[in-house]
Amino acid sequence: MQKSLHIDPNKCTGCLQCEIACSFENYGVFNRAKSRIKVFEFHETGRKVPYTCTQCDEAWCMHACPVDAIVGAAKLMHTVVTDLCTGCDLCIAPCPVDCIEMVPAVGADASWVRERADAARARFERRNARLELERKARRERLAARALKAKADPDAEKKRAIIQAAIERARLRRAQP
Ligand code: SF4
Ligand code: SF4
Repeated sequence: MQKSLHIDPNKCTGCLQCEIACSFENYGVFNRAKSRIKVFEFHETGRKVPYTCTQCDEAWCMHACPVDAIVGAAKLMHTVVTDLCTGCDLCIAPCPVDCIEMVPAVGADASWVRERADAARARFERRNARLELERKARRERLAARALKAKADPDAEKKRAIIQAAIERARLRRAQP
C-alpha cells in the first residue's frame, strides 16, 4: 500500500516534536539532525513551516547520483538504496528544498569493503554508458528533425511568417 505524508503548515506550532519522532523512528535516537522532516523558521515573522522531500518532478538528486543509488519515478517515491550509496554527497547540492541530510551509516552499510567499491565502480561505468547512449539518441533525433525541417517545401514560407510576426511584435513594443 502506498503511503503519503500530508503536511499542513497552517497548523504547525513549531514544537519540533515531528523532527524528534522521525529521528527516533529511523535511528532510535532523539537527534533532530537525523530527522527526515525539517521545520523551517522564517526569521522575519517567526513563522515555522515543516517540510520534507517534495518528490519533485525533476528528481535532481537522482540525476546527480553517480552510482544510481537513488531510485524512483517522476514525483514518485524517490528513495536512497543505502547499501549502494558511497556517501559522496553529490546529491545534496542539487536538491531545491535542501532536504538531504547525510548521517553516519550503520550496520552492514557502514562497512566499506573492496567488493562494494568494485560494485560501485561498475555501476558508475554502466551509468556513464547509459547516459552516453541517451546523448547519442538525442543528437540523432535532433539531426533528423533538422533534416526534416530543411526538406520541408514550405520552410521558407513558414520562416517568413514567423519573421513577420516577430517584426509586428517588435513594432508594437516600440509604440509609446
Ligand atoms: S551520497 Fe549516496 S545517494 Fe547521494 S549522490 Fe552520493 S552515492 Fe548517490
Ligand atoms: S531533489 Fe530534493 S525534493 Fe527533489 S526528489 Fe530529491 S530529495 Fe526530494
